[in-house]
Amino acid sequence: MDAISYERAGDVAGAVRAAQQPGAVFIGGGTNLLDLMKGGVARPVRLIDITHIGGLDSVASLPGGGIRIGALVREQYPLLSQALLAGASAQLRNMATVGGNLLQRTRCGYFYDPAFTQCNKRMPGSGCAALDGHNRMHAILGASPQCIAVNPSDMSVALAALDALVLVSGPSGERTIAFADFHRLPGDRPDVDTTLEPGELITAVDLPPPLFSAHSHYLKVRDRASYAFALVSVAAALQMDGERVQSARIALGGVAHKPWRANAAEQMLSGQPLSQATLKKAAAAALSGAQPRHDNAFKVRLAQRAIVRAVNRAAGYTGGVA
Ligand code: SF4
Repeated sequence: MDAISYERAGDVAGAVRAAQQPGAVFIGGGTNLLDLMKGGVARPVRLIDITHIGGLDSVASLPGGGIRIGALVREQYPLLSQALLAGASAQLRNMATVGGNLLQRTRCGYFYDPAFTQCNKRMPGSGCAALDGHNRMHAILGASPQCIAVNPSDMSVALAALDALVLVSGPSGERTIAFADFHRLPGDRPDVDTTLEPGELITAVDLPPPLFSAHSHYLKVRDRASYAFALVSVAAALQMDGERVQSARIALGGVAHKPWRANAAEQMLSGQPLSQATLKKAAAAALSGAQPRHDNAFKVRLAQRAIVRAVNRAAGYTGGVA
């Protein structure tokens, strides 16, 4: 095993400085990083422990009614808490952090097993074993011939629906990234999951005022009831005026390399009475660009039905739908 050095950062500036060293990575809860290290997928030579940095574990109110969640905070918000509860075992939730959750790497089996020599995400330019291999769990939207992996995070799907902002600090200072721009589609660089620059540290996530808390629902469809990644998930958030949808937010998980906002479906629902016919058309529109592989065509219909169910649940309808 390679030697690994460990450094405990005392503040954000110190962590960012330490991360300039070759082979350095930040470690928070470590729930994904340690898996990657044990499997030989990640080989950092320096671990920069950020868990003792003051202020990263706090939740603060923002002017205008939103909240700021420190990168080391471990819970929050109705749609977000449902996604978090769906996301992992109690042990993992106790260790995992907000920042680490956003940076989880795909659960593609070919990525995690170095015995497979074709994986563009692990070894750029080597190919993609999933294209013609087992791809039941893989992407149906936004994939590329280089990679068809999906993002595994439940929390990120909720944060996408809520239009969160990701606050980062790095060698060039601080900046804010709109959640929609934080994760990347694979394109020809599937080895790069996010738009973080080298050495940038997530310090917090800002949530806008909770306009959707009365009408939101996170639905996760998976193979078994506990500790499984989503086949498909839906974060649905509505602002309602009686039976009319004032505005709708719908994000999908388990279908793409990043949380997938269903913009066309949102537009079709917004300003309309919530009829089942409109909802089914909106769900169909959300999946109109789907390009399934040989094992995962079932996800198209599943995602459409999940959208219908999640939006109905968000609106408060609980019976006989989808
Ligand atoms: Fe690797 Fe992506 Fe292909 Fe999986 S889908 S084998 S992560 S390149």
